[in-house]
Amino acid sequence: MTDVLASVPAPGLASGPDVPRPAPSGPSRLLGRRPDVPLPHVSADQLVALTEAAGLTGRGGAGFPTARKLRSVAGRSPVVVGNAMEGEPLSSKDAVLLAQAPHLVVDGLSLLGAALGASRVLLATGPEVAAGPAREAARGTRVEVRALGGGFVAGQESALVRQLDGGPAVPTDPLVPVFRRGVGGRPTLVLNAETLAQLALLARHGADWFREQGTPADPGTFLVTLSGSSADLLTHPGVLEVARGTSLRTVLEAGGTRTDRVRAVLVGGYHGAWVPATDLDVPLDREHLAPFGATPGAGVVHALDRAACPLAAAAEVARYLAGQSARQCGPCVNGLPRMADLLEQLARPGADPGLVPEVQRVRRLVTGRGACAHPDGSARFVASTLTTFAPHVEDHLRGGCHEAARRLDPL
Ligand code: SF4
Repeated sequence: MTDVLASVPAPGLASGPDVPRPAPSGPSRLLGRRPDVPLPHVSADQLVALTEAAGLTGRGGAGFPTARKLRSVAGRSPVVVGNAMEGEPLSSKDAVLLAQAPHLVVDGLSLLGAALGASRVLLATGPEVAAGPAREAARGTRVEVRALGGGFVAGQESALVRQLDGGPAVPTDPLVPVFRRGVGGRPTLVLNAETLAQLALLARHGADWFREQGTPADPGTFLVTLSGSSADLLTHPGVLEVARGTSLRTVLEAGGTRTDRVRAVLVGGYHGAWVPATDLDVPLDREHLAPFGATPGAGVVHALDRAACPLAAAAEVARYLAGQSARQCGPCVNGLPRMADLLEQLARPGADPGLVPEVQRVRRLVTGRGACAHPDGSARFVASTLTTFAPHVEDHLRGGCHEAARRLDPL
């Protein structure tokens, strides 16, 4: 298995000026040169069979099997939407993909548009993703590129549909999924930009080729955005293309991370979970990340410096998440700000021991109660923080924690 296929700088992530970027160990699939094989014409049934045989799953976060999503709209002339909203602050992979290989995303949309007999084909870009290259690539195709407003939940399927229909970027009733009623009231298929690019290559090269990378249970490659909590923790933050199952350590080392200085790594983004420094050899796939409560998600890998207080860093993330809700459901209006308050108090040395059970109580209270998964994802992050950094919590309760509490700034 080849591990690292591409390593490129990402906008907003500083890179060491004099240190050469490590050479990839194989040709890039997604960020390399244009494919010379023409895009084939395939039917909806063929696409479903192909994605099923390849085991392609969504690369936007939830990791839903693509074949099941295709089946849900096949034969219904759906609206097809490419999702490049990239609301996760620690992710730059959609921005890099659309800057370097917009033709693959447009190919994926064109393929679906033809196979499904789509009534419309749209590509939605968030404020951090330049729409220009996609517009250029979409010239002469049916793909309409729409640059939309952002926010953490703006890429959630129903929020995206609502914004495309001229409304606010706010999730709607989860009982009416977008595959039943989406853009303009029509059945709608939403796929992440990277999933579309993967689909464009899969249609050209086939399922066996797709499975040459990755693991049998989690095949293919994916884009990872690697960053760190301090400027000198790694020399080459940016976006990497790696095979599923590549070890976390390999990814960190490919970016020049000083792994001896890493306290833990946030995998999957602000709705993800921490992997402690003792487990850096964990393979980045669904099976091996599950015991940590993490998934590959949208490919975020963020290393936390030992010099940073993990509770202060987590409190900043919790405060950010509390500020990103659509403020229309109880768990978000009351629960998330309360969780952030409690974590901030816990981050102070000499914290009240009663704070820990109270955070756990609020965390359980918000789970499963929102119109979208924002409270659940936020609660998952907080649960992982309390588990991973339990000894550090004890230090705080005893009045300890002498690390400089550095910021985990949204990047
Ligand atoms: S759960 Fe929160 S983010 Fe989701 S729709 Fe309700 S208020 Fe908005």
